[in-house]
Amino acid sequence: MFNDKLPVQVIQNDLLKEKEIRLFVFRLDLIHPQISGNKWFKLKYNIQKAREEGHDTLLTFGGAFSNHIAAAAAACKEFGFKSIGIIRGEETLPLNPRLAFAKACGMHLHYVTRTAYRTKKEDLFINELKNIFGRFYLVPEGGSNALAIKGCAEIISLAKDLFRKEYKEELKFDYACCASGTGATVGGIAASLAENEKALGFAVLKGGDFLKQDISDLLEQSGHLNAKNRFDIITDYHFGGYAKHTGELDQFIDTFIKEQNIPVEFVYTGKLFYGIFDLINKNYFKPGSKILAIHTGGVF
Ligand SMILES: *Cc1c(COP(=O)(O)O)cnc(C)c1O
Repeated sequence: MFNDKLPVQVIQNDLLKEKEIRLFVFRLDLIHPQISGNKWFKLKYNIQKAREEGHDTLLTFGGAFSNHIAAAAAACKEFGFKSIGIIRGEETLPLNPRLAFAKACGMHLHYVTRTAYRTKKEDLFINELKNIFGRFYLVPEGGSNALAIKGCAEIISLAKDLFRKEYKEELKFDYACCASGTGATVGGIAASLAENEKALGFAVLKGGDFLKQDISDLLEQSGHLNAKNRFDIITDYHFGGYAKHTGELDQFIDTFIKEQNIPVEFVYTGKLFYGIFDLINKNYFKPGSKILAIHTGGVF
């Protein structure tokens, strides 16, 4: 089911021409029909470790609209693990498409109050889950831990390999951009960059300033101290917060899909491309800059 021929597309439009910017899009969204985009890279080494430690069950956390929950459920099904999803808030029926999909993959959905969910990293809460479910391998919310950094650090080299095969030349860029929720993906990308390359994470939720600290902590835990100054978080394009959108963003997304024939949505990649084009317009990038945008998936 994994696709090993992901394209790196070259985007063209009048703005890019006027500002002398080259923009590439790495179509990581096409890697797997169900384990979308960056989520596979965050999960792969966690699944490997769960197997090495002899686990048969993986337990993880997410909101009702979490792409991570859906991807984790699909990955567990594909790799023969039982899965448990600890879901924030009450059950709403009928289940939304993501949760319905997770359930169809065999994931056991366990709902907890928002108050309890907030304590998801505390021993008391985790021990309670162990009492209910027995032994499991724990993957944190969004799949974001040091092993996610390790997996996401492979995204850029994959893009470079595929580009070389497709165009018979090296993929060179100054900025690698992606949408950021927990920030593990942009952290992993930063961990794999060369001296003259920079990772930009476009925060899709409010409070992106906390994100920088979280990412630094993750990079430290995974031994990538140098990467701490190879990334930046852009906080101006959350459009009101997680999964919030405006008429202006919707309009941009419609036009982008029509012009580029690349599917995007308003939670993640729509905000990313809006932000990239707006920054280009505002001369954030020097003329001659090359930008690699990572399409992390999320179109459900
Ligand atoms: C989960 C997700 C992200 C955010 O990844 P983080 O590592 O949490 O920053 C970005 N894009 C899409 C499509 C996602 O599903």
